[in-house]
Amino acid sequence: MIYNSLWLKGIKVKPLESLNKDINTDVLIIGGGITGISTAFYLRKSKLDVTLVDSNLIGHGVTSKTTGKLTYLQELLYNKIESIHGFGIAKKYLESQKYAIDLVKSNILNYNIKCNFESNSSYVFTHQDKNIHHLKKLRSFLTDAYNNCKTTTNLPIKYPCKYAIKVDDTAVFHPVKYVLELKDICKKEGIHLYEKTKIISMDKISDGYIAKTKNHTIAAKKVILACHYPFFLNPGLFPFKTYLEKSYVASGIVPKNKMFNAISCKDSTHSIRYYSDNRDYIIYAGLSKSLGNNMDNEKNFKDLTWHVESNLTKDIKYEWFNYDIMTPDGLPIIGYYEDDNKNLLIGTGYNTWGMTNGTLAGRILSDLVQDKENKYANIFSPTRKLNIGKALNIVNFNLKTGTTYMLSKLKTNYSFYPDNVKVVTKDGVKYGIYTDENNKEHIVYNLCPHMKCNLVFNTVDKTWDCPCHGSRFDIDGKVIKGPSIYNISVKSNVN
Ligand SMILES: Cc1cc2nc3c(=O)[nH]c(=O)nc-3n(C[C@H](O)[C@H](O)[C@H](O)COP(=O)(O)OP(=O)(O)OC[C@H]3O[C@@H](n4cnc5c(N)ncnc54)[C@H](O)[C@@H]3O)c2cc1C
Repeated sequence: MIYNSLWLKGIKVKPLESLNKDINTDVLIIGGGITGISTAFYLRKSKLDVTLVDSNLIGHGVTSKTTGKLTYLQELLYNKIESIHGFGIAKKYLESQKYAIDLVKSNILNYNIKCNFESNSSYVFTHQDKNIHHLKKLRSFLTDAYNNCKTTTNLPIKYPCKYAIKVDDTAVFHPVKYVLELKDICKKEGIHLYEKTKIISMDKISDGYIAKTKNHTIAAKKVILACHYPFFLNPGLFPFKTYLEKSYVASGIVPKNKMFNAISCKDSTHSIRYYSDNRDYIIYAGLSKSLGNNMDNEKNFKDLTWHVESNLTKDIKYEWFNYDIMTPDGLPIIGYYEDDNKNLLIGTGYNTWGMTNGTLAGRILSDLVQDKENKYANIFSPTRKLNIGKALNIVNFNLKTGTTYMLSKLKTNYSFYPDNVKVVTKDGVKYGIYTDENNKEHIVYNLCPHMKCNLVFNTVDKTWDCPCHGSRFDIDGKVIKGPSIYNISVKSNVN
């Protein structure tokens, strides 16, 4: 079994060139996941000079670890949006998700993109009587808003289910193949693409921004933050309005693709889909919790394996984990970052539905930078007013991240650390020590440069991971995943 995403199986890309000079551009897109590459794709025929940079490889971020469903049946999200924003906005969100599925479909058809796209049915289900009333509320919303759903008491496979809602006009695909094909189209059609090019800071100037990499600058009239957790580049209040949810995913061989996808509602998440290339695979995602409460990878992978082997397949081939950004009102954050600044835009906060929302962000952001109308721009605006009375979640969100931060300060060694991992405090400073199989100690400062949370050792990947915002560092302190843009310092000893 491999601890890596199924979507990276067989994917070999030759890295594009890194930025090796100072440049000027009309639009700079920072990040080449589904958000950034879709934005570039929709700008490729504009008259604007467009540059996209990625700190790693395009399509290899969070997008490479999703379950790749293209569905508008998104757990109980409509119930939440309706209770906060009302029926009209919830209905518009539903329309936007269907529109996004159509956008992906038409890109695939127009460019003959080979990305294992399959139309199939989506289910949202529960195995507990106490949750059925939530699904009945959802059914009533879907009936009023779209007049299209069925109910059942079974899934197409043997899996605990008491009640389910089903729709038929949804799909699944291979997210990495799709993004890489869009990348090739963008490259051919004049978008400047740079990989291994990390933006480490941005300065606002009178007509745009100067974005800086370690050695070069990019002067851009407009900047689009498409880097998943973009708040390190322009924080504002956003880190306090979002939190990260972490989930674990497993994929294994099954005799036959059953052509449906499903997700449970309330309590713990159980998400299922199938995928076929030479073999048929089932993909399961679960164990979703806020990041800070989900740091014991070894135990979680064990639980994941147990659940998948007991219920779905004994032949597991891949396991991985992924994070996504959650917003308090259930709507994504897409549009102008600030009301009085048309030069900085953002697409993030997809509440684990980024295949549709990342595509939609591409459409909205590309329209906004061209001063075109987009009928969804208002409802997803980052500066939208929140009904704080109803969205008490904001307080909850901050409590979650605040508690994680405090716990990271108070806690030193975790019960799941093996003997060769420890954290020691010397003169008030915490150091993380990992001793390798040759008895060599790797000592790092146990503090995330991003927002100063203390780090937790990941015993599966042998990395130091931030429980607050998801940055990750190898045993020698090198940053391997943001938002931190800096390494952590290394020490030869703690004396
Ligand atoms: C377990 C799980 C399952 C999911 N399943 C689904 C699903 O079935 N359907 C669905 O719709 N959604 C799903 N999602 C959500 C979806 O995966 C994400 O919302 C989406 O992939 C986010 O895309 P992105 O482009 O915003 O981020 P990313 O794909 O992470 O792209 C951001 C890019 O920015 C780059 N970057 C970061 N910092 C910098 C910097 N400083 N300079 C330059 N580049 C930078 C990164 O290298 C990265 O390539 C799931 C999420 C989880 C956690």
